[in-house]
Amino acid sequence: MDQPLPQLDSTSPPAAPEAEHAHGVLRDSHERVIHDLRMSITDRCNFRCVYCMEPGDRFLPKRALLSASEYMTIVDAAIALGVRKVRLTGGEPTLYPVLDTIISELGRRNLDDIAMTTNGSLLDPTRTARWKAAGLTRLTFSLDTLREDRMTAITRSKTRVADVLRSIDVAAETGLARSKINVVAMRNFNEDEFADFADLARERDLDIRFIEFMPLDSGRSWKPGRVVSETEIIEMVSARHALQHRDPKNPHSTSRHYYFADGAPGRIGVIPSVTRPFCAACNRLRVTAEGAVRPCLFSNTEWDIRPLLRNGGTHEDIKRFLVDSVWTKQAGHSIGAKDFQQPDRGMSAIGG
Ligand code: SAM
Ligand code: SF4
Repeated sequence: MDQPLPQLDSTSPPAAPEAEHAHGVLRDSHERVIHDLRMSITDRCNFRCVYCMEPGDRFLPKRALLSASEYMTIVDAAIALGVRKVRLTGGEPTLYPVLDTIISELGRRNLDDIAMTTNGSLLDPTRTARWKAAGLTRLTFSLDTLREDRMTAITRSKTRVADVLRSIDVAAETGLARSKINVVAMRNFNEDEFADFADLARERDLDIRFIEFMPLDSGRSWKPGRVVSETEIIEMVSARHALQHRDPKNPHSTSRHYYFADGAPGRIGVIPSVTRPFCAACNRLRVTAEGAVRPCLFSNTEWDIRPLLRNGGTHEDIKRFLVDSVWTKQAGHSIGAKDFQQPDRGMSAIGG
């Protein structure tokens, strides 16, 4: 007999003021409006990156994971409330068995942007072309080193740097928008390669984004001293290539943008989540692979939409649930403060 599904810690969000439901948008109590939905479509991964997962981490039973149609029910409610962008993430989203169905369904909605974050290990030209034809706008790749020996140590996988670089080329050849490359910046780990990543940005016209290491690793090895700050990152890159800062066009961008002063192609971004949080501009809502709605990456409270989905909740019920959930979005995170509490979930179980 099947074991009961693991219960999420919390259930439904408290009701938002009734006026919020009349607005028809997802707005939180700090007046931020949500346009960006991040859906983690699986908690599975074929890597065990040291800053994210531990080799012994357990996965959810398959029937706990949302189906493609359950995801689309959430997406349709979110679109009706003003969401314009969907990012698929995980775990590793390219492992999700019906990924093509989800991308095709998203492609039928009138969204501004359909993006996916991937470790780049499982792409090929045929798959990538299918995703593009179905409506995928662009890919973000994760790559933290350009050295093969370090790649093995970081990802604890057999995938090589050369495989990921090939996938990055495939994305460009397929005609997807310029790829972003996420590099987690960790002290005594990869900072001696930041300028090499800048070379890569210039050579391949890429958007390299250094992400400050966040306390979301399931191994809980995060310490303030392991964070390489935005200032240090820019200094290290500038030692080889002069950079110019430019404000992003998108006011909700989490990334600080820098261009090469000599006009070379490519761009450098820094996501300074720890040293310069962008919480006031945050327009995101997250849903995990088993239907936990998380108003913030660092939420310690999450709302379980799965029972509503599986017990006949209507479009209006789902919308109401999302409006109520968003209303609980916290003002910001308090990394570094005495009262900071690392969320129980690691990044792979939240969806970065
Ligand atoms: N598996 C896919 C990948 O790695 O691209 C998608 C999921 S992964 C959780 C999403 C992003 O989160 C990746 O770019 C990864 O580098 C980032 N990430 C994971 N753990 C992190 C941490 N502790 N601090 C900062 N970024 C982290
Ligand atoms: Fe997997 Fe992505 Fe986490 Fe690495 S960062 S372990 S690829 S989910």
